[in-house]
Amino acid sequence: MSILKELRERIPKNAEISQVKFEGSELVLYTKSRSFFKNFEKTVKEVVRELKKRIEIRPDLSITMDMEKTKKKIREIVPESAGIVEIYFEPDLGKVIIEVQKPGLVIGKGGETYRRIKNETYWLPKIERAPSIKSDIVVAVRKLLHSEIDYRKKFLNRIGQKINVPQSEEEKRNEWIRISALGGFRQVGRICVLVQTSCSNVMLDCGVDVGSNSYPYLDAPEFDIEKLDAVVATHAHLDHVGYIPYLYENGYVGPLYCTAPTRDLMVLLCLDYIDVCQKEGKPVPYSKKSVEKAVKHSIVLDYGEVLDITRNMRLTFQPAGHLLGSSLVHLHIGEGLHNILYTGDMMFGPTRLFEPAFTDFKRIETIILESTYGSSDDIKPSRRDSEQKLLDVIEKTIKRGGKVLIPSFAVGRAQEIMAILGSGNFDFPVYMEGMLWDATAIHTAYPEYFSKYLQKSIFHYGKNPFLSKNFHRVAPRERNNIIDSAEPCVIIATSGMLIGGPAIEYLKGLAHDKKNTLLFVGYQAEGTPGRRLQKGWREIPIRGGVRTKALKLEMEVDTIEGGLSGHSDRRQLMSYIHKLGCKPERVITNHGESKKCVELARDIHKSFRCETLSPKNLEAIRLK
Ligand SMILES: [Zn+2]
Repeated sequence: MSILKELRERIPKNAEISQVKFEGSELVLYTKSRSFFKNFEKTVKEVVRELKKRIEIRPDLSITMDMEKTKKKIREIVPESAGIVEIYFEPDLGKVIIEVQKPGLVIGKGGETYRRIKNETYWLPKIERAPSIKSDIVVAVRKLLHSEIDYRKKFLNRIGQKINVPQSEEEKRNEWIRISALGGFRQVGRICVLVQTSCSNVMLDCGVDVGSNSYPYLDAPEFDIEKLDAVVATHAHLDHVGYIPYLYENGYVGPLYCTAPTRDLMVLLCLDYIDVCQKEGKPVPYSKKSVEKAVKHSIVLDYGEVLDITRNMRLTFQPAGHLLGSSLVHLHIGEGLHNILYTGDMMFGPTRLFEPAFTDFKRIETIILESTYGSSDDIKPSRRDSEQKLLDVIEKTIKRGGKVLIPSFAVGRAQEIMAILGSGNFDFPVYMEGMLWDATAIHTAYPEYFSKYLQKSIFHYGKNPFLSKNFHRVAPRERNNIIDSAEPCVIIATSGMLIGGPAIEYLKGLAHDKKNTLLFVGYQAEGTPGRRLQKGWREIPIRGGVRTKALKLEMEVDTIEGGLSGHSDRRQLMSYIHKLGCKPERVITNHGESKKCVELARDIHKSFRCETLSPKNLEAIRLK
């Protein structure tokens, strides 16, 4: 452990260091010196720079203030308007957790309030934002992590020891890199990429194909779960994370790297996936316990943070513009040997909620690029026209005394619709049920992941579109009241393609009335009831009890074509490559129907003169 030794030598003796531990790639020092704890920033800065390691200094339990006194002190120091919800401790880590409505007020101007808490209580403060809408998932995840502190301490130390073994000269000379397409190549769904080098095995995403209930090719000869070092998740959609708990079900005990919102949304979606499989009598690939295990092994990082994840791989997340917490994955391999950008799902254009995908990379040799809208004719209508159409359809229906039913996925599009409605003035009620509401609540826990514009509107002007008084959470037993009431309204309900869920129940009640409108805002896959209605069918089969009945539609049916999508269209994909801060040597397309992956690869080759590939599942490519 040469790095630990070096560190001990570099830190002054009077720092009274009682313990040095790894926490993932980070180094953690516990000190028994109050004055060192107060003033370490200056001393440690230099060492951090030279060792290229992140170092956190924490108090040894012996110097911390009594817990009850600390709580009182914090309430004295922090202004009341901050809205402290709870104060609790993680004594083994020397931390006091302050859950609060306005984190900014606990930090204070230039970090002044934060420093006062630290220097007067000798605890390291950790600030957590309380969601503005109560979220059971956020509470459960935080509780779980809190109750597993002992396990996590050991787990993180184990990871740190593994990562921090330097590569020998011989190892560096013989380095190679390859990727294997384990799922989601020339198809949409069950995305999984395995990146292997001479000394690491890392998996990027591991999703399910919900439609066909198929999973990645984990039986490929190059994959060995025992040797897997890390899993990286780009975002919480099931086609990217739906199979991650399966790894934990089958003995994987390594880290899952993702952003905090991805972790929380993943829990919501994976638990729901288990429920849906059970209800529909489909095989359930893992238990709820394994979803918990994934959380227990999660290591979260923010955009722009750089983290060593194996002996020769360094991970950075950047905004992908697709979903709350969605990330582009940048992997720096070896010392300047190779850089991979894996886009996951990506939106390079304006949305209500997020910044467009990040472009300012210094070096990329290989890009793995999503191709959902990769064909040359995949051009979306403009964002503005689509938003206007949404508002027009709603207004028209409301005016004639009707109700608008919007079938939607729980996460993503639903919140976009809420943000469009909630940022204007509207005076009709909008109803949403459980899961969709839960997803929205998780959004309110992480406003720092929103676009700068939306953050400004929330933090400076106190205008949070999700908190509009016209949004209502409703329980299933209230459905009939809403359907029977004469009041015009909007209902947003899952599932997005009318395969099941509350949307079907509302449809049954609303279908017969010409005044009502069924409004599609998302992609409808071939063969789904949603697609049929879009094509002009006016009757669809509906399961009612044992028998299937026909449901006749008198209501209006309309569609907002693609303009509210969280994916880049063809133009945006091309302009993304163009706007990148550096020119890639090779572009690999995935996450699209075969034709789209191939067309996009062909046209990128023509326009940018770089090598392009569109491999099939189970193919492997050597990058170095
Ligand atoms: Zn997605």
